Amino acid sequence: SPSSETHEFSAEVGRLLDLVVHSLYSEREIFLRELVANAADATDRRRFEALTDGARALPENAHISISPDKDARLLTIRDDGTGMSREELVSNLGTIARSGTRAFGQQLENAKPEDKPSLIGQFGVGFYAAFMVADKVDVVSRRAGSDEAWRWSSDGKGAYTLEPATRDTAGTDITLHIKSDADEFLDPWRLQAIIRKWSDHIAWPVTILRDGKEEPANEGTALWRKSRNEVTPEQLEEFYRHLTHNFDTPWDTLHWRAEGTTEFSALLFIPSSRPFEFGEQTRESKVRLHVRRMFITDDAEILPPWLRFVQGVVDTEDLPLNVSREMLQATPVLARIRKAVTGKVLTELKNRGKDAESYAAFWDNFGPVLKEGMWDDPIYRADVAALSRFRSSAVEGLTTLDDYLSRMKPEQDVIYYVTGDSADVLAASPQIEGFKARGVEVLLLSDPVDSFWPERLGTYEGKSLRNVAQGLTDLEKFGAPEETAAQKADMDTLLPALKTALGESVSDVRATDRLVSSAMVLSAAEGGPDLQLRKLMERSGQ
Ligand code: ADP
Ligand code: MG
Repeated sequence: SPSSETHEFSAEVGRLLDLVVHSLYSEREIFLRELVANAADATDRRRFEALTDGARALPENAHISISPDKDARLLTIRDDGTGMSREELVSNLGTIARSGTRAFGQQLENAKPEDKPSLIGQFGVGFYAAFMVADKVDVVSRRAGSDEAWRWSSDGKGAYTLEPATRDTAGTDITLHIKSDADEFLDPWRLQAIIRKWSDHIAWPVTILRDGKEEPANEGTALWRKSRNEVTPEQLEEFYRHLTHNFDTPWDTLHWRAEGTTEFSALLFIPSSRPFEFGEQTRESKVRLHVRRMFITDDAEILPPWLRFVQGVVDTEDLPLNVSREMLQATPVLARIRKAVTGKVLTELKNRGKDAESYAAFWDNFGPVLKEGMWDDPIYRADVAALSRFRSSAVEGLTTLDDYLSRMKPEQDVIYYVTGDSADVLAASPQIEGFKARGVEVLLLSDPVDSFWPERLGTYEGKSLRNVAQGLTDLEKFGAPEETAAQKADMDTLLPALKTALGESVSDVRATDRLVSSAMVLSAAEGGPDLQLRKLMERSGQ
């Protein structure tokens, strides 16, 4: 048409389309999951926007419809969501703003076939999955609150067109021109099976056009509101995959209902593997807040940042459905929910910690995140310490602080630790030789966060934590070997000589009983920054 304009895709989108279409062929059916998820997101967004702008109110029968047309070879997914303006069509469907795209491509090439579908969801590139089954995609969208509609069309080969269109109400239609080898996606029963498998939990009604009638396709049950014996492990697992885009089996599932001052249902998961790019985008917990089934927001920070690996849903009756963001910030209801949910997760981790082997797998994935709690959370610091695991000079595998305390020597009154880049290197480090030789246990801390929390934690069960590298230590009390007169005389000539030779680069040269087989060790000046911390500061240019 005369008013149609052609735009090139950004180079990133072009590459991405190629990747998606060519590497996910065997899992093509997930295009529907992605388009329905987008439709549901857009409907949630409109409901939220309508709270402050009545012109965007949702129609009473807001829903998502899926209409196959065998003869025309078209499949249309229609929603009553918030829609997209012309600018939004360009920026949401024609460019990729996210930094992760390149990383996505690499991950996709390297991933096992069964992991590939989850990557699409994790990297937020779901829309492009449509091109796996369509050789052309038309999007007609009208933004809620506006009466302009636009049509976006593309064959996914480098360019798209934009032109004015008409749509009676706000929302979006996505029409797929189904490829010749993708007939199955024009069959209502096949579509129904895909929705059951992937999108059953979508809270908005989803319908499929069959024999001229719109038939309900999803159950839309809020699984988390059912009691535990009404839900099968398979249903929980399926919901977990839907929610997280992970493909593993959760390491832990918490499903409970809180009664009393605050009432809510919760269904939370801890993954059994670390999601790609975990924690790089944001430190905030993304646990979803629902009110009476309705999705409200995923930035209510229901859990603290150091529990951000926990994913799931909390659904309460104690907030009004039209709760606004301002209200969420102020309400004591949310504070009570946060406290209850955090407490529940900590108790669960404590219980799971009794199985050392299984807990070690969890710890390997998320231990460094959990440990942040000792640094930044004054309320839960001690709980996190009790849940933490450490490599140590005295035992194979991992130890708890409680176990460390139980092995302390009678004359020992502090917990010793050393920090560095690798626990194995630390285990053989000259810094701890003197301790090992005297049977004094040292914790080997090698995560970046380990340079920060010990000082904040200060003490555990009344015992302070002490860095072995922090100046002179108190090894004498563990029975330091006596120095002979000859050794003392040697030292008296050696030390001044070394000091002259090293000059300005050291603040002092001292004899030490911390070493057994090494000749020398570098030690931070007393009161000066810990060596590991200093390395970090140098690396970041401070
Ligand atoms: P993601 O959903 O992770 O953001 P997608 O590739 O699936 O990534 O979608 C890209 C963007 O396009 C969405 O964030 C949204 O802004 C927009 N979008 C896609 N589908 C719709 C729709 N049906 N209604 C409104 N906006 C949509
Ligand atoms: Mg999406």
